[in-house]
Amino acid sequence: MGPGPSDVHPRVSAALGAPTVGHLDPYFLKVMTETQEMLRRVFCTQNQLTLAVSGTGSAGMETCVVNLIEPGDRMVVCVNGVFGGRMADVAGRAGAEVTVIEQPYGQVFPTEQVAEAVQRVRPKVVGIVQAETSTGAWQPLEEISKVVHEAGALLLVDAVTSLGGVPVEVDAWNIDAIYSGTQKCLSCPPGLSPVSFSPRAVEVISTRKTKVASWYLDMNMVKNYWGQDRAYHHTAPINMNYALREALAIVLDEGLPARHARHLRNHKALKAGLLAMGLGYANAEGFQLPQLNPVTIPSGVDDASVRKQLLEEFGIEVGGGLGPMKGKVWRIGLMGETSQPRNVLLVLAALEKCLVERGYKCPPGAGTVAASAAYGAM
Ligand SMILES: *Cc1c(COP(=O)(O)O)cnc(C)c1O
Repeated sequence: MGPGPSDVHPRVSAALGAPTVGHLDPYFLKVMTETQEMLRRVFCTQNQLTLAVSGTGSAGMETCVVNLIEPGDRMVVCVNGVFGGRMADVAGRAGAEVTVIEQPYGQVFPTEQVAEAVQRVRPKVVGIVQAETSTGAWQPLEEISKVVHEAGALLLVDAVTSLGGVPVEVDAWNIDAIYSGTQKCLSCPPGLSPVSFSPRAVEVISTRKTKVASWYLDMNMVKNYWGQDRAYHHTAPINMNYALREALAIVLDEGLPARHARHLRNHKALKAGLLAMGLGYANAEGFQLPQLNPVTIPSGVDDASVRKQLLEEFGIEVGGGLGPMKGKVWRIGLMGETSQPRNVLLVLAALEKCLVERGYKCPPGAGTVAASAAYGAM
């Protein structure tokens, strides 16, 4: 129940163990094609250039940045947590002239702030995180996409924690480049990064004046392996791709609306329980991600010892705070397969025991009673 990796479905684990074929084996080419088709459905896009980068979510971040950015290009990066900060770092390393705009941890960006920045900077690319896993902030994108495009820029979105947990509408929201990861709400082990590029982004990438700084992540070459040519570029992590295909099939079997509703339901029950125990959320009301719950640690309670007890006594992992939230919040993940009522009720009961043992006062059973009532009312 941390910020990922989330629980992996047995069907996905079984897929990982299937025989390893060659990266140009007709069977594997079929796996790739099916994976691409399912990724398009999960990203809600028709984008031709949609594939799984060999590497974790951060590799997807680098892929999007290094392909779109040439040295000296201006890029605006929206930083309201660790992952926005990472994107700014990656952009600087890629040679971008980076302008960072900021919001405090736990807050989201109002459209006007992004509009002001793009008018002032006139960037080639604007990068923003939809689901900031370090804070649980849920960034709305539709209006921001409009102001970014009005200024003639490309919109780059981090959807590592959002995909499979909350709606991600690549075409409807006019997103130009997007990356995700396998181990958050897709509930697959870490190792691949789904990405998608709009035709406009593909045009930008294929008409660059300079070569992409990373050989491994150069979409001009990688797309020839995932496209019709099937030209060898690097050996794909075969079994990870089996696992991703299976995980995507599970997502689509459940259906995106049902999956999003499940994430929301379990979040609401958890939140009702935490509030009944007198605990609060460390992010902005109205912009709280269902899959990442940042709980303010009550004063006088030690962060690390509670997390240790949850792990040792109950087998529950929760995340600690990052950056300015270090030592101040616990991050409870309800991602993908982990988003289940049994986990919500268990973590509430376990947390109550840990807190009461440290002298924290709350009515006995308040968390589980309130969560059960919340489920009953939904
Ligand atoms: C986890 C995460 C990443 C990095 O992904 P890795 O798989 O750890 O490389 C990037 N952005 C966000 C929002 C994340 O949650």
